Amino acid sequence: MLSLKPLTPELVKNKVVVVRTDFNVPLKDGKIVEDSRILLAMPTLQFLVQNGAKRVHILTHMGRPKGEIVPELSTKVLVPAIEKLLGEQVYFRSDFTAGNERVQLHENTRFWKGEKTNDLNFAQQIRDGLGAELFVLDGFSVAHRAHASVVGLTEVGVETCAGRLLESEIKYLEPFLSQTKISGLTVIVGGAKMETKVAVLKHFAKTAENIIVGGALANTFLVASGYDVGESLFEESEVETAREVLEIAEEYKTGLHLPVDVQVASDPDGDSLYVPVEDVSGDMKIFDMGPRSIASFCEIITHSHTLIWNGPVGFFEKKPFDTGTKAIAESIAKNAEAISILGGGDTVSAVKSLGFSTEQFTHVSTGGGAMLEFLEGKELPGVKVVMKYVTS
Ligand code: ATP
Repeated sequence: MLSLKPLTPELVKNKVVVVRTDFNVPLKDGKIVEDSRILLAMPTLQFLVQNGAKRVHILTHMGRPKGEIVPELSTKVLVPAIEKLLGEQVYFRSDFTAGNERVQLHENTRFWKGEKTNDLNFAQQIRDGLGAELFVLDGFSVAHRAHASVVGLTEVGVETCAGRLLESEIKYLEPFLSQTKISGLTVIVGGAKMETKVAVLKHFAKTAENIIVGGALANTFLVASGYDVGESLFEESEVETAREVLEIAEEYKTGLHLPVDVQVASDPDGDSLYVPVEDVSGDMKIFDMGPRSIASFCEIITHSHTLIWNGPVGFFEKKPFDTGTKAIAESIAKNAEAISILGGGDTVSAVKSLGFSTEQFTHVSTGGGAMLEFLEGKELPGVKVVMKYVTS
């Protein structure tokens, strides 16, 4: 088991604490569209305030300002939302200097070039400017990034521990690192980008009982299995990798399930029809799975004890191509006996936009890339810094 250094009252009392959250919330016209990332950081922030931290300095990035000051990506916009949820006044600081106030939010870490390069001079500037005595890493979704505000403070000698959110993510995801077969585990993988999912597919091709492949990803697997996918989105350069995944699954007796029928259209705004996969040709584009596939996938889900889902199984943003994704979400939510884990930015927003609540699943991971990299067995830089051996 991974031994993380936990947040304790003794560590916090009278200390100047720097906490790295991931408050990269979606914005529209300068307003926060969705604040669940802020809400999820509350257990850690409340713990720090309630256990007598001398000061709490909150660090986060927002968007991709590429080392430049981009006023629309200033973290200042977050202040009212944090104040409301935390019930404490929050003071904004445009740099890494400290005031006397109890809770301070600092400017977007990615406005500084040293953030992404993990420049230790930049990490030192943060450490000394804030007078950091304890560093708490709470943003699991940035734990796969070796950035200065994620790992740099530890590297310049600040005592480090794991925040509550990071700890709970690891607790839910760690059992799936098992190298042996996990009975009753079904992994559902969809979406479009094969590159980010290959390693996790290879891992679960050995340890899951079933893998269901949907979305544009399934098209690449269909090509690898010898089907014509017409003009559907698929990745030519990944066909060979898909073949490797199919071979691993066969060797380890893992059921790897591809759609047997699909919903196609020549244009997403035009008419669509259901066809068996062997009938796809010409200018047809596959945008979703068909009813026979949905029925058999839902049957597998119903009989699973554990479910992991990453990636929408169709072009869910456009009706009627949300049918498969909706059916998968519904059957996972209905299997109340099973442990269900969801992750990935698009997956979570698909599920929410289709009217499901996150409470219908056991754990909704805040990590997209971080969750996939963790599950494939990679040592995440941010997990490494909160391991006990690093600081004790
Ligand atoms: P994230 O990268 O944010 O974690 P994700 O892993 O959930 O997201 P992606 O690989 O980014 O998923 O792919 C999601 C996108 O794939 C969605 O926009 C969806 O519409 C698209 N998609 C899924 N199936 C198809 C398809 N058959 N044709 C075209 N686009 C598709």
